[in-house]
Amino acid sequence: ASKADKKGLFRFYNDELYQRIRSKLDAEEELAHAIASRQFEVHYQPRADTRSGEIRGFEALVRWMHPVRGMILPSHFIAMAESTGSIVALGSLVMQSVFEQLAQWRDAGETLVPVSINISPSQLDAGGVDHQIQSLLEQYDMQPELIEVELTESVMMSEAESIVEQIANIRKMGVKLHLDDFGTGYSSLSRLQEIDMQVIKIDRAFVSRLGTSNQADVLVKTIVLMAKELHMEIIAEGVETPLQLDALRHLECNEVQGYLIARPVSPKEATALLRQRFLLDASKPEAEPPA
Ligand code: C2E
Ligand code: MG
Ligand code: MG
Ligand code: MG
Repeated sequence: ASKADKKGLFRFYNDELYQRIRSKLDAEEELAHAIASRQFEVHYQPRADTRSGEIRGFEALVRWMHPVRGMILPSHFIAMAESTGSIVALGSLVMQSVFEQLAQWRDAGETLVPVSINISPSQLDAGGVDHQIQSLLEQYDMQPELIEVELTESVMMSEAESIVEQIANIRKMGVKLHLDDFGTGYSSLSRLQEIDMQVIKIDRAFVSRLGTSNQADVLVKTIVLMAKELHMEIIAEGVETPLQLDALRHLECNEVQGYLIARPVSPKEATALLRQRFLLDASKPEAEPPA
């Protein structure tokens, strides 16, 4: 480059935009390093049956255990991992870790419950998610019923051949599919039926307004009825208050997840929850007066 060019570059390097690009690159590099050195831990959030209070499953939620900054939540790094492609390696770590945990529980004679794993659209774009799950099932000799996959509406609505095929293959293995964050995307209801999902997770945005917004009550009621008609299971996400839980019981939503039941916890604490087995007071709300 000519001298003039270099001068231009020099100015650019000093400028604020450059600093921002630089720190973005640093952050990306740090994330890549963190993945290579396995600074991640999978935490587990249980879900429970609203009638018996019994634990029904766990959701695997990744955490970055940063040596200096401490525990970092996914909202601070998942988007970057997706845009740089490092989500593929991170996703592999998560899957590996879940299988390892289940195998450990199994070998210790614990009563097992299914664990659901979040899969990003970019992981399916990259491809091979079906093969990855298949080989882990074989490697760990794991019952496919113990593994579940959480996909968002955008993935479910995708018509990309490779994505449709991976999803169909995962389903064929006997792995249940959850439609995560239901109600926040733009699902077509007809596609819902085609796709053979087993579980709908109602997004926290609806759950949080239950019992205080008539509109939210009607929406959740409608989603529950629709799920029943389609023979799908339903899980309400983000249940934080007894009021919300009562409303969900009235609406016959049979599974709940949220801080009211338990926050996502370390593997060690998850083992304790597994042994505790009953996570909710099974007391029913007041019986509904006859119509
Ligand atoms: P998600 O799959 O919808 O997970 C639920 C999120 O809501 C979790 O946040 C969970 O901690 C939080 N949550 C649960 N109950 C409550 C509640 O009662 N109140 C409130 N306010 N929040 C609650 P988290 O762990 O920060 O994860 C955020 C998102 O990051 C997840 O949303 C998921 O989309 C993504 N994610 C997490 N782990 C992974 C992973 O291993 N792979 C991929 N691809 N994505 C992941
Ligand atoms: Mg999820
Ligand atoms: Mg969700
Ligand atoms: Mg979400």
